[in-house]
Amino acid sequence: MLKIENLAVSVGDRPILHDVNLEIKAGQVHVLFGPNGTGKSTLIGAIMGFPRYRITSGKIWFKGIDVTEAPVYERARAGIGVMIQRPPTVRGLTVRQMVGICSRQQADADLLAAKLNMTDFLERNVNEGFSGGEIKRSELLQLTAQKPDLLMLDEPESGVDIENIALVGEAANRILLRGQTDGQEGSMRKQRTERTKSGLIITHTGHILQYVPADVAHVMYKGTLSCSGNAQEMLQCIQHKGYEECIRCAI
Ligand code: ADP
Ligand code: MG
Repeated sequence: MLKIENLAVSVGDRPILHDVNLEIKAGQVHVLFGPNGTGKSTLIGAIMGFPRYRITSGKIWFKGIDVTEAPVYERARAGIGVMIQRPPTVRGLTVRQMVGICSRQQADADLLAAKLNMTDFLERNVNEGFSGGEIKRSELLQLTAQKPDLLMLDEPESGVDIENIALVGEAANRILLRGQTDGQEGSMRKQRTERTKSGLIITHTGHILQYVPADVAHVMYKGTLSCSGNAQEMLQCIQHKGYEECIRCAI
């Protein structure tokens, strides 16, 4: 689904990422851990193609096509979707209109909104006056309409209460499973083996992983992916020993 080779990314004149290599197969969900300011959001932004993130060397392949130079709308149409950390308010554009814009095929905004408890928000401006949890639900509504094949979530739990984490996690999982199980979602193990869509999730707390079964986790440290392993084991190691120690024992 996604292959990244020796990627280096700068923001302005400042190098942020270097030597990033990552391969996400169809059906896999990868998790990204790492301290603040280490470049996690930069990686997701570079994969989506936001112009702020300047690729200075390396390649990004999506479904076998080199998208390193492709504009963001082409990547979105090809099937890359993202929920950024702090989505902006868009005045003059309603959630219903936004769902229409995001739909790769005609989506029923009312039906999708009902599943995410967003019916009352359809006629409001995107994110205007929304709480943290409402913003994440609104973003997931747009992503549900887009039906991306690669779903990237940047700290989906931040600013979200426990109840909304469940709603957000289940909605994200539905996007990844869509079209395969038709609501009969089965066990976590079954979901993981039957999934065909892929995910890349940044999380500090790991709460989202209760709803979205992950295959592998990576630690990003000082601008590069330092080690990989089982998501739960890594999370525990980081929580008990800290990032630096965790990377050392993984090596
Ligand atoms: P993370 O998501 O791991 O917390 P980021 O990818 O957001 O880290 O940021 C990595 C580094 O890039 C940080 O030091 C941050 O300050 C810097 N950075 C991000 N955006 C900009 C920008 N627009 N201008 C300058 N530096 C930036
Ligand atoms: Mg970030």
